[in-house]
Amino acid sequence: MRRKLVAGNWKMNGTLKANEELVAGLSAELPAGSNVDVAVFPPAIYLSQVIHALSDSHINVGAQNVCEQAGSGAFTGEVSAEMLADIGCRLVIVGHSERRAAYGDTNALVAEKVGAVLDAGLVPVLCVGETDAEREAGQAFAVIAEQLMPVLKSLSVENLRQLIIAYEPVWAIGTGKTASPAQAQEVHGFIRATVAKADEQAAQEMRLLYGGSVKAANAAELFAQPDIDGGLIGGASLDAQEFSAICRAA
Ligand code: 13P
Repeated sequence: MRRKLVAGNWKMNGTLKANEELVAGLSAELPAGSNVDVAVFPPAIYLSQVIHALSDSHINVGAQNVCEQAGSGAFTGEVSAEMLADIGCRLVIVGHSERRAAYGDTNALVAEKVGAVLDAGLVPVLCVGETDAEREAGQAFAVIAEQLMPVLKSLSVENLRQLIIAYEPVWAIGTGKTASPAQAQEVHGFIRATVAKADEQAAQEMRLLYGGSVKAANAAELFAQPDIDGGLIGGASLDAQEFSAICRAA
């Protein structure tokens, strides 16, 4: 039985004060002992603040991006997976569609980043998903297979078993246009079957999250699908009440 995970991607949002309030709200709303794993992904500059504020909490903290280079070195502006581990991060989002579209995160680079995250002992949350045009052209599965392939090919079975994958259709992100439970389940089933070709056990154990306009009002029916093991939440993760309600729906 896979444990559900609800993850909040704060994207480029927050201030010291707003984060303090959000985290206090989450701590109050989400007491330990529930049967869902919860994680938040603040901007890099606020990771230490949030990790410190949640040090007594069951809520995990992750980063939104990472450098593909290991350790340290002459990579101005970058943050390595080892540095993230050093300050207490547990997870890292890799290959979010916003990074793929605007910051040159190619499928090959994303695979390198996943490797760097695993080498540092952290858990990668690999994002995949098709654009509206790709879906319209009947290319959704092909695009997702291409996004998965370099990662599946480069990982050992042991590492593959650490991976979390988030299906985030680009057309559903920040648009209010959520994939229907059936649409999301169809792709999640495809992703699990694709992973199974690399390793059956990894496929059965792997948590597959859905992301794209998830709200408290639509979370329960999405999370009830057999291959949907939780969500990656953007806008709604900035509101403690709403995000907590999504967690309770899992
Ligand atoms: P929204 O929930 O705002 O649509 O964003 C989804 C997302 O991109 C999470 O990574």
